[in-house]
Amino acid sequence: MKRSLLDSQTVLYGVLGDPIGHSRSPIMHNRAFRECGINAAYTAFHVTAEQLHGAVEGIRALGLGGVNVTIPHKVEIMPYLDKIDEGARIAGAVNTVVNQNGVLTGYNTDGIGYVRSLKEETGVDLTTARVLLIGAGGAARGVAYELAREGVPCIYIANRTSKRAVELAEVMGKYTEVIGLGMDEIGDIMHEVSIVINTTSVGMSPHVDLTPIPEEYLHQGLIVSDLIYNPRVTRLLREAEACGARTHGGLGMFIFQGACAFELWTGKPAPIEVMREIVLESLQNRG
Ligand code: NAP
Repeated sequence: MKRSLLDSQTVLYGVLGDPIGHSRSPIMHNRAFRECGINAAYTAFHVTAEQLHGAVEGIRALGLGGVNVTIPHKVEIMPYLDKIDEGARIAGAVNTVVNQNGVLTGYNTDGIGYVRSLKEETGVDLTTARVLLIGAGGAARGVAYELAREGVPCIYIANRTSKRAVELAEVMGKYTEVIGLGMDEIGDIMHEVSIVINTTSVGMSPHVDLTPIPEEYLHQGLIVSDLIYNPRVTRLLREAEACGARTHGGLGMFIFQGACAFELWTGKPAPIEVMREIVLESLQNRG
């Protein structure tokens, strides 16, 4: 059944963020609900830092099915929730909330979504990979944790602020071998790396001429992955492609983090292909 009418049984979902006007999550989730015949609707809520606590109370009071959480609330929302899933606790950030009869549980589907996308789109065997993760922010934490869970034997984390890389390496060191570095030390370890992952915002629109690492570090044997999906092909990916490396962009992560949230909310498999199609269409139409 493909329904589109809202009625008194419709369950509401949404995304909380500031700013939120450019979010592709509403079109993606509404398309998925329609495809699966689920009587639900998803919208974007512009919520400032001061309004966050009230907004979380509103989820309970209005009986929303759940929400996604985006910049800048992924960390600040945590104390307002009733339970935090282990992956979100270790990542230190929540991007999905499930409301079960007024009990709010926080999850982090960014890391899981990223790894699902990387594996499906490149076919890589992570159990023999040696990864250079650039960046040590919120996205890096979730990605590092899921890579470790997938059995990656060695992860280097390099960050502009090297102290943050070293701190994150210490936390993740419980799960696999993880070494924190400054960006100036990358040259020393590049020869042993098989996957490079950019988790920083360097190269994101409008600063599309920037790249997080020098082109001379890239070579044919690498997989080069960028979490950024606007633009779809970043300068890093363009330079990687030019030297024959395999590349992987951030759109798949966006789709799969949404798919994992959809599955937590509905208990049904997400219709990945229609979700991807509608997001691609919207990126082409609105840039
Ligand atoms: P965040 O917590 O603010 O972390 C930002 C990271 O980027 C930090 O490591 C920061 O280094 C580094 N950085 C920022 N500006 C830099 C610069 N000019 N030079 C060098 N390093 C710089 O942000 P986040 O939530 O992790 O998001 C990071 C990126 O991932 C964003 O581009 C976001 O769009 C993308 N992302 C994509 C998806 C998806 O679905 N595809 C999902 C989540 C995030 P310092 O520690 O030195 O400040």
